Amino acid sequence: MSCQCHLVGGPFIAEDPDCAVHGTAATRRDREVEELKACAQREDDPARLREIIDELAYIATNIY
Ligand SMILES: [Zn+2]
Repeated sequence: MSCQCHLVGGPFIAEDPDCAVHGTAATRRDREVEELKACAQREDDPARLREIIDELAYIATNIY
């Protein structure tokens, strides 16, 4: 099923803020995942890497 984001003549000028793919929460979640990935790539401390994995798992299992 497709959303109505960026649909010409649709109900939203840009994107639906509640859209699961393009909405506010989804955009914030994508940014957090990107930041955590960047941290993991330059992290050498195994304890800190485990924390990053925990954070990613939390984000993946909490669709907000
Ligand atoms: Zn959308």
